[in-house]
Amino acid sequence: MKIMAVNAGSSSIKFQLLDMPSETQITSGIVERIGSEKALFTIKFNGEKHVVETEIKDHGVGVSLILAGLIEHKVISDINEIEGVGHRVVQGGEVFKDSVLIDEQVLQKIIDLGEMAPLHNPANATGIKAFKAVLPNVPQVAVFDTTFHQTMTPDAYLYGTPYEWYKNFGIRKYGFHGTSHQFVSEKANALMGTTETKVVVCHIGNGASLSAVKNGHCVETSMGFTPLEGFPMGTRSGSIDPAIPSFMGNKLGLTAQEITDILNKKSGYLGISGISNDARDIEKAISEGNERAKLAFDIQAKQIADYIGSYYIYMGGLDAICFTAGIGENSPVLRQMIIDRLSVLGVKLDHALNQLRGERLISTADSKVKVYIIPTDEEVMIARDTMRLSH
Ligand code: ADP
Repeated sequence: MKIMAVNAGSSSIKFQLLDMPSETQITSGIVERIGSEKALFTIKFNGEKHVVETEIKDHGVGVSLILAGLIEHKVISDINEIEGVGHRVVQGGEVFKDSVLIDEQVLQKIIDLGEMAPLHNPANATGIKAFKAVLPNVPQVAVFDTTFHQTMTPDAYLYGTPYEWYKNFGIRKYGFHGTSHQFVSEKANALMGTTETKVVVCHIGNGASLSAVKNGHCVETSMGFTPLEGFPMGTRSGSIDPAIPSFMGNKLGLTAQEITDILNKKSGYLGISGISNDARDIEKAISEGNERAKLAFDIQAKQIADYIGSYYIYMGGLDAICFTAGIGENSPVLRQMIIDRLSVLGVKLDHALNQLRGERLISTADSKVKVYIIPTDEEVMIARDTMRLSH
């Protein structure tokens, strides 16, 4: 069975076609710069990459191009071979506690939740509509970034703000990257051979979040009402004193929205180092002796270690720490800096194994907590749920 996993942004559509239930990727690609005369359509299969530059005026045209590309390159011979389309949707609020088959009501709810995720849900909804228009008889499933975190209890998801803010406006912690946290924690449990575990997943990419997963259920996570909460990321500040935005708004003569934009786009690695939001550039600058680049990693590592310490207490112990996403999977330097700060928990990295890539245990045999690298696969998670709900 062929299932398409889709991640639609405001000007892009990323897709993967997977064979299920074998979970093998058949092809992947991306339509970028939608709305431009010089939009790009890239499709990859059999180790080859084909790129076409053409005008793509909207998401609908992008979807038609993807399907035509699949036929042209003989990946499929008929669009009816696609038996389900799974869409990544960022904000599912408290409404969606599981992935869901999309009908008109579900689509409307996704659009309504856009109030809380204005950069993401409207774009996700546009992608859904475009696929529904071209494949009207194929089941479409929404898979939310927030669902996995819906098992948190109120002591974990409520803030110390007026309770009415929660009741009337939905102000609470939702958490994001849920499909990744679920995929990685399930994989860790499989590697340990039991689901009775206490696991911390460190999803560290350009966007980054941690989760505490007890016996397979998420009990805490670092992102909050929006993906801005947590520790410093590529360009996001993570949590700061909530009084700073109004103070700096007055100092710089900026609106609340403008300050939020700085916290989202000009902070984190980029803001601290003044060099780049890209971890590879930060590592290079550190190796050249740049102090502010070192500080960017130090601040992040310190805060990540603090979260892990608090999750250790909240879960009443810790069996495994898992590193995933672009930086978590590829930066031995940052992994080492984080684990060094956790030595009080008896966690020990095997330095040689830490230099390697791919799924593996990287802690020593006598470490009290296992440390794993587990490459994430959000598309497989989306395809699994799409298969489960559409047949
Ligand atoms: P997102 O999905 O949030 O955009 P990714 O998970 O793709 O982010 O991660 C992007 C980050 O991964 C970038 O900061 C990039 O520098 C980092 N990264 C990728 N490869 C490496 C590497 N070999 N060494 C260090 N960092 C890397």
